[in-house]
Amino acid sequence: MSDYQPRIDDISRVLMEALDAPAQLQSLPAFAEVDRDLMRQVLEEAGKFVASEVAPLQRSGDEIGCRFENGSVTMPPGSRAAYQAFWQGGWPALACAPEDGGQGLPAVLEAVLYEMLSAANHGWTMAPGLLHGAYECLKHHGSAELKARYLEKIATGEWLATMCLTEPQAGSDLGLVRTKAVPQADGSYRVSGTKIFISGGEHDLTDNIVHLVLARLPDAPPGPKGLSLLLAPKFLPDSQRNGVHCERIEEKMGLHGSPTCVLRFEEATGWLVGEPHRGLNAMFVMMNAARLHVGLQGIGLLEAAWQKAHAYAQERRQMRAPGATQTSLIQDHPAIQRILATQRAWIDGGRLLAYRTAVELDMLKHHPDAARREAAQRWCSLVTPVLKAVWTHQGFYGASECLQVFGGHGYVREWGIEQIVRDARVTMIYEGTNEIQAIDLLVRKVLPDGGEALGALFDELAGEGPLPAEVQQYGAQLRQLTARLAQAAAYRQDLPYWVADDFLHAVGLALLAWAGSRIAAVLPDWQAAEHALQTWILPQFALRTQIMERQLAASEHAAPAPAAA
Ligand SMILES: Cc1cc2nc3c(=O)[nH]c(=O)nc-3n(C[C@H](O)[C@H](O)[C@H](O)COP(=O)(O)OP(=O)(O)OC[C@H]3O[C@@H](n4cnc5c(N)ncnc54)[C@H](O)[C@@H]3O)c2cc1C
Repeated sequence: MSDYQPRIDDISRVLMEALDAPAQLQSLPAFAEVDRDLMRQVLEEAGKFVASEVAPLQRSGDEIGCRFENGSVTMPPGSRAAYQAFWQGGWPALACAPEDGGQGLPAVLEAVLYEMLSAANHGWTMAPGLLHGAYECLKHHGSAELKARYLEKIATGEWLATMCLTEPQAGSDLGLVRTKAVPQADGSYRVSGTKIFISGGEHDLTDNIVHLVLARLPDAPPGPKGLSLLLAPKFLPDSQRNGVHCERIEEKMGLHGSPTCVLRFEEATGWLVGEPHRGLNAMFVMMNAARLHVGLQGIGLLEAAWQKAHAYAQERRQMRAPGATQTSLIQDHPAIQRILATQRAWIDGGRLLAYRTAVELDMLKHHPDAARREAAQRWCSLVTPVLKAVWTHQGFYGASECLQVFGGHGYVREWGIEQIVRDARVTMIYEGTNEIQAIDLLVRKVLPDGGEALGALFDELAGEGPLPAEVQQYGAQLRQLTARLAQAAAYRQDLPYWVADDFLHAVGLALLAWAGSRIAAVLPDWQAAEHALQTWILPQFALRTQIMERQLAASEHAAPAPAAA
């Protein structure tokens, strides 16, 4: 079966017509030159690179995988050549500032690039996937000296970067991190400790690797507020090997094209990025960028699975479809149409929301008006956890539905669909598990202001054009539920945690309803997807709210009686 091919026409329509991205971005002085033609040209070139250089390595990346020997990792055949072509072609630098060696293009073009790369080859894409976050982190928090040494290398992708957070005892709870960083007379630090699950911790793709490591200084208070961020390269500026050792790579369910490393830091030389004990603050820039990228992985993987299933359904004949007189193609069976149309609605709707988030990132960075920047901040803060959790959930479950289209042929390796299902599973886990995203949305972002920001986001959508009736209704229901949850949380603190997942999915469905109404107008063959959206997807909103209603009813039942007057 053929490899993934980007649907550039559909991507362009979502970006240029449904979102009107060129007009929005051109209103910013930074992107005055970025017109429709330029955007289209970049997308086409990106699509060609992805399809010709990266997609063909998908299968061998899975079957041959990464090899570990004597502390070194050999990447699957072809990976290094493709990566060298990638950075030399300027792709990692697409959205970095020209003064840092970048091309100064909008973040949304980078977002589309990473969606296509993830669809083509998730394992390979893990390597450059953290570059932009590392670049932003260093740009905003690094000292002049560190920037002079590392910023351009990271912007261009000549050197790859890692994000070293997780330790055996510290997963979701980074407050438990134990790695130590001891200050030295020359201003550097000695970093010691063990990090696990580090993507791209060791490899042969680039000549150096820049590790960004969360660690504790000797005078650090306990918990997350005592973490500092350090930069420790594999090779030091004098070309000596630093004390960073890869002890092994994990055997995994999927993603065999990406080495997941145990790294031992043994008195490794590092330098502080940002202020002491404010490491999480510096790291959040990187984690937020990475969360959008993981949402794009979910969308890309679902697209790759859908393309395979769609093509297979056009070839395979079994039984007669209702009303047919002879054996039918399986694409004519309503059961198969339902699967394909449903996943298509999730893909295109997710795209619109992810691309909008990337446009908002540029608004946040470049818009002259503070109120517009505030709206952009609100969008990114609320929609990023939704994209990360809802679209990685759908990436995995939807890819499994696409596997179903193949029957038994999907369960065997031949068609490559089982690899997508295995690879997609981890997106629900890393970069903050989906449970953590749900808590982030409801408990940290929505309830503290009584739902004001979320309400403002729906008001903003209403201000952009008439809202379909169901989006208005969903927005109103979410407001009302938020108010009741805030009230109930006052006497039942655990309640928001029980319903956080339902709340996050309900917000995702409301946003998808809005996105669908925008897309239906611009994609000529979207009728089946629109039908699926209305028939099988959006009714899930009622289910999610019903679950929350029941939880609330149980709590309200248990509420303390009002004090007698
Ligand atoms: C392939 C792969 C690549 C990775 N790449 C990197 C990397 O490059 N850098 C890096 O630092 N890490 C990386 N990780 C680690 C990843 O980020 C962690 O696995 C993840 O943060 C979860 O931590 P944990 O595995 O320790 O699970 P735990 O934190 O132990 O969680 C176990 C379960 O409990 C739930 N849980 C935990 N706390 C709460 C809570 N407060 N409320 C509700 N539920 C909770 C979780 O959602 C999960 O379901 C990678 C992991 C994998 C598998």
